[in-house]
Amino acid sequence: MAPMTREVGVNRSSGGNDIGGGEKATRVRIGRIDGDGIGHEVVPAAVAVVESAAAAIGGVEIDWVPLVIGHDAIERFDTPLPDATLDALTELDAWILGPHDNVSYPERFRDTPAPGGAIRKRFGLYANVRPARAFEHVRATVPGMDLVIVRENSEGLYADRNMARGSGEFMPTADVALAVGVVTRAATERIARVAFALARKRRRRVTIVHKANVLAMTTGLFLHVCREVAADYPDVQVDDEHVDAMAALLVRRGGDFDVVVTENLFGDILSDLAGELSGSLGTAPSINASGTQVMAQAAHGAAPDIAGHNRANPTAIMLSAAMMLDHLALARGDRRLAEVAARVERAVRETISSGVATADLGGGASTGEFTETVCARARRW
Ligand code: ATP
Repeated sequence: MAPMTREVGVNRSSGGNDIGGGEKATRVRIGRIDGDGIGHEVVPAAVAVVESAAAAIGGVEIDWVPLVIGHDAIERFDTPLPDATLDALTELDAWILGPHDNVSYPERFRDTPAPGGAIRKRFGLYANVRPARAFEHVRATVPGMDLVIVRENSEGLYADRNMARGSGEFMPTADVALAVGVVTRAATERIARVAFALARKRRRRVTIVHKANVLAMTTGLFLHVCREVAADYPDVQVDDEHVDAMAALLVRRGGDFDVVVTENLFGDILSDLAGELSGSLGTAPSINASGTQVMAQAAHGAAPDIAGHNRANPTAIMLSAAMMLDHLALARGDRRLAEVAARVERAVRETISSGVATADLGGGASTGEFTETVCARARRW
């Protein structure tokens, strides 16, 4: 999985213990937040496969820091996003965030921002990187898909994060609702640089997705600034598409795209579509990154319809964890972390391609059986 760029690298220093021959062990502290619903099944599965891969590589010590959001947090702290969790995340370079099911929280929390958005805003995790890559020998609507959606994560129409104070959505009367869409040159330029730098590590092609024929000022500015940034990357081929056309093109010829850069709402919708077209929502990974921190988060939600049934596919969060480790590895120049990331990704992909898969991919494996197979492969290979 291609790493992100130095611009969003995690630049804090890493610790280490001497493991003989003067070589220091790689030591990392990683937060683990199970979240709600299937998070209690898939996050432990991701931790297990990372541990298996780390044990096989050797010289990597991971200190997992358990933290709570959602229903667990309401039970313990009477809030879905406690200060104790936010304070602990401040000290961490990396964490895994499970899904949250905020619509099921008690009525008194309905107007509280959802934990995921609040965490992204609080830590300035502006770059949401969402790959969609089909698996060998697995049915997919678009079998040749191998693209990455780079989604701007801090503004657009997302009312929970696009204002310094208050909400970007409001109701002057009970029958009138308004939303503010925010696009700035600075945020667009920074996300465009992530996309173009990523394209250089892949097939050197960027597609800018917008709706400048209707939202001429907001998404028009997004298109214009991305085009300006493109001039600094003459070796990367660039084109652009309207978001509605892009939805159709992903279905018709989704295998033709490489890196797609877009604003917040369009990126959210297109990445769910691309995830499903390349496999299932349960296979779509992502990271959210700033200049100093990285958060692994699956594209899917808490899936309350299957929670507790040992049927959830942990692939998305396992691959998200691999992306997170790869990102840390790049920022720290740490070869072992990169090897752990590669091992996790390969174990997941090989397991699925060998025919062991959960029900959403047409397989017969439970969450537990799938996880055991991936862990065994991560230890063996
Ligand atoms: P959110 O808005 O929080 O993203 P959502 O309402 O869009 O949530 P999900 O919780 O992602 O929806 O679930 C959508 C559908 O996809 C459900 O039928 C769910 O069971 C299925 N699904 C989601 N994630 C997985 C997974 N990891 N494994 C199997 N099925 C999944």
